[in-house]
Amino acid sequence: MDPDLCSAKGCQEPAVWQLLWNNPKVHTPERRKTWLACEQHRESLSSFLGSRSFLKDVVPHEPVG
Ligand SMILES: [Zn+2]
Repeated sequence: MDPDLCSAKGCQEPAVWQLLWNNPKVHTPERRKTWLACEQHRESLSSFLGSRSFLKDVVPHEPVG
C-alpha cells in the first residue's frame, strides 16, 4: 500500500505531519483543511500558512493500515 505523500510541490516523501488550517475568507470557522508534510517540508509549509494566519494546528500523521 502506498503511503500518503507530502503536499509540497514535487515532493515524493511520505507524510509524517498534518497541518490543519482554515481560510476565514472561504471556510466556516470549524472547517479544517489538511496539508500533509514530510519532516523536511513541515517548516516551510507551516510558515506559509502561518504568515497568512491560516494555520490552526500541526499534528503527527498516523498512516492508515
Ligand atoms: Zn516534503
